[in-house]
Amino acid sequence: MSFTALQSVDVAGKRVLLRCDLNVPIKEGVIRDDGRIRASLPTIKYLIENGARIVITAHLGRPKGERNPDMTLAPVAERLGELLGLPVLFSPEIVGSGVDALKTALMPGQVLLLENIRYEAAETSKDESERAAFAAQLATGMDLFVSDGFGAVHRKHASVYDVAKLLPNAAGFLVAAEIEVLQKLTENPDRPYGVVLGGAKVSDKIGVIKNLLNKVDLLAIGGGMLFTFLAAQGDEIGKSLVEVDLIPEVKKLLQEAKDLGVELLLPTDIVVAPTFAEDATPTLVSAAQIPADQIGLDIGPVSAAAFGQAIEKCHTVFWNGPMGVFEFPNFANGTKVIAESLTKVSGISVVGGGDSAAAVRALGFKDDQFGYISTGGGASLEYLEGKSLPGIEVLNNA
Ligand code: AMP
Repeated sequence: MSFTALQSVDVAGKRVLLRCDLNVPIKEGVIRDDGRIRASLPTIKYLIENGARIVITAHLGRPKGERNPDMTLAPVAERLGELLGLPVLFSPEIVGSGVDALKTALMPGQVLLLENIRYEAAETSKDESERAAFAAQLATGMDLFVSDGFGAVHRKHASVYDVAKLLPNAAGFLVAAEIEVLQKLTENPDRPYGVVLGGAKVSDKIGVIKNLLNKVDLLAIGGGMLFTFLAAQGDEIGKSLVEVDLIPEVKKLLQEAKDLGVELLLPTDIVVAPTFAEDATPTLVSAAQIPADQIGLDIGPVSAAAFGQAIEKCHTVFWNGPMGVFEFPNFANGTKVIAESLTKVSGISVVGGGDSAAAVRALGFKDDQFGYISTGGGASLEYLEGKSLPGIEVLNNA
């Protein structure tokens, strides 16, 4: 994988089109976790300090080509300005003559953020020519493209992929750092190497499990996805989340793990409740016998401790996805214990994905307690699946 490092490009006075990942959780206009904005600061500050004129594109949520006021980047522009300590111009228009005039008027060191790029259907279009035409509008008046929106590099989107074909380009500091960490996880990781997966769906993670099974020493499974594994073992899972169609594939994975000698950890105790609700009464049961009227909402304390002990022994750990419904305090313990154990890993510990990162921050952990907090869940999972990342592949080594 080769791309030009930002430091090696002369950016002084240049008009730089910068793709960032500013996809932060916002509720009622308030940013709940500004981690992705903070992660974008090193590149933005570098460009400011080196006299570039900066136009930032970014997305928020999935507005599907429509102007949805709940998904405006306006609050992000304000927060970015606060963090930079200087005003950030905000353009509700994304392309067109008005934006082109703003681009022309930018002074060195000035920052302009364009509105949610996914308000434009062409951004995510499957039609290459439609995307290319939109990318050409984005590139109008610009001298250089800097790719720093790691959370979107697995997407063939106009502002991520097509613009790189139109402008000289370089990778920003965040993208470079994320790729370096992912390479460490895939090329000769320090052993023992443990991977901890949770979150809602097996279907999101099955590709990663398949690709990593012969590379890891330990695989621990929690979250909603664990019940498909329990069902594959023939356990009673009550009303817990399950992807029935994946049971045969999961059975094969269980056998493969055994054949390869990989330690595959599944919980032995589960915190259940009769309903999926914050105030539902939690009960602890055996993982093999979840009552028919109960839903598994977290791994139990015995399992969390066992997972934690196994993780702490590893020298390389990658974790993606909460162990339970951490948004409800009664079902957050498993995720908390696992996060705690990652902070004790002596080698490299990676928390993968914006949602997992937001979860550990919401539970009171600090970023610097972990080796690395990745901003891109989907992108890092696809990389670990062995897939190529179009937004990285397209960058040329200028
Ligand atoms: P993901 O986006 O796949 O990482 O999934 C994250 C979501 O999985 C969180 O919002 C959790 O509440 C949810 N989750 C974790 N454990 C469970 C479970 N046992 N049942 C249902 N949802 C869960």
